[in-house]
Amino acid sequence: MGQAIQFTTPSDHYDFRKEKGCCILWCTDARFTPALDKFVAERGYMRYDLIRIAGGANVLATPEGDGARFVIGQFGALHNLHHFDSIILMMHQDCGACGGSKAFGDDCARELQDLNLRLSTACKAVRDSLPSIKVETVLVTFKEIISIPQPVL
Ligand SMILES: [Zn+2]
Repeated sequence: MGQAIQFTTPSDHYDFRKEKGCCILWCTDARFTPALDKFVAERGYMRYDLIRIAGGANVLATPEGDGARFVIGQFGALHNLHHFDSIILMMHQDCGACGGSKAFGDDCARELQDLNLRLSTACKAVRDSLPSIKVETVLVTFKEIISIPQPVL
């Protein structure tokens, strides 16, 4: 057996009906890990479920894709386990999964508009599949974490 690293964690399953929590879909890009840390601290989440994949919520911008089906399935399974009342879909500026800022000619306004459109599509995909769960969309730039309201259509 190899060398063990010691740590401790509670062994009981958590239940977000008893404590504040959510499920976050976020990108793997480590440049923005401090933004995730800041976001959950500002929101006061002691625990949350995290799905971390390249592009974050971008996978749901193609709702009929295999990736979207997989992530929606994960939301459902995690909700059955932990009973969160909200899903937070996050994307960030200069995301490689969307071609990066260069794909928009480094036009920040154009890029953010495109990311917002992708978040809107992602939000609709989750609402269509899991209508009882609140969905929030969040866009992260190099300077800000912006919650973007998505009207219920
Ligand atoms: Zn990314």
